[in-house]
Amino acid sequence: VRIFSSVSAANNHVHSGTKHRVLVPTMGALHKGHISLVRLARENAGGNGEVAVSIFVNPLQFEPGSDFDKYPRTESADEELCREEGVDVLFRPKENEIYAVNRSVFVEETALSNRLCGKSRPGHFRGVCTVVAKLFHILAPHAAVFGEKDFQQLAIIRRMARDLNFPIEIIGAPTVREADGLALSSRNQYLDTEERAQAPILRAALLKASEQGRSGELSSAKIVEQVRTTISNASRARIDYVELVSADDFQPRKKVERNSLLAVAVFFGKTRLIDNILL
Ligand code: AMP
Repeated sequence: VRIFSSVSAANNHVHSGTKHRVLVPTMGALHKGHISLVRLARENAGGNGEVAVSIFVNPLQFEPGSDFDKYPRTESADEELCREEGVDVLFRPKENEIYAVNRSVFVEETALSNRLCGKSRPGHFRGVCTVVAKLFHILAPHAAVFGEKDFQQLAIIRRMARDLNFPIEIIGAPTVREADGLALSSRNQYLDTEERAQAPILRAALLKASEQGRSGELSSAKIVEQVRTTISNASRARIDYVELVSADDFQPRKKVERNSLLAVAVFFGKTRLIDNILL
């Protein structure tokens, strides 16, 4: 693995060759979810192509007062994992090269970003789009892989790539879970024992909703009510939102139709977990 921490070095590298390059943007603290993205990137790049992973804990996508300072940073373990997985390029830029002190240009998606997590986390997707646009410019990938765990993020990046004519294929990757159903996340390590024991309730509630849908329940209100009730059985859970929306534009749906997305965000203590399922 070739490690670049300066923008110009990374830029020189990518413009010195013609390899098919696939990027996996991350914030580090790499886990099996990230690894599955890396493997999908390798499949897409082929043996002669190049898999690039970026690690950057992006201050712009953390709301004021959130967990930026305590976000896990595990540099050497991440490096080792990248090596084991045969990653070709690891890009770990320094914050001062990504953000000038008097920065004044940002990338903002204006329709999808106002819903679901965007409502709870003002400015979050503006931070995400801005940093991903930068990574696309610096690393010039032919394709980039994003996880479906962050379904809204994936949709917003697709929209950005389309609307800003990035010649980059956006690839979605299925959610990787623990045996008990909890979606892997770098934030799971914040959970105390009791919270961790209760957290799989998110997945259980979504699976129950999927079952409701299959057995003919078409009312969003009924399904959302079931999910809220199920999650509320966990004493440590505090629901941020439970929404049944169109998976295309995230507009609320009264009835379950094709391509409906059921998305949840739930706090366990200060830790906010998200999950979703297509109905
Ligand atoms: P993060 O480091 O949390 O910003 O995540 C980097 C990428 O990994 C994003 O595209 C996430 O959607 C994806 N990701 C995170 N957790 C999972 C998971 N459990 N399964 C699949 N992809 C994931």
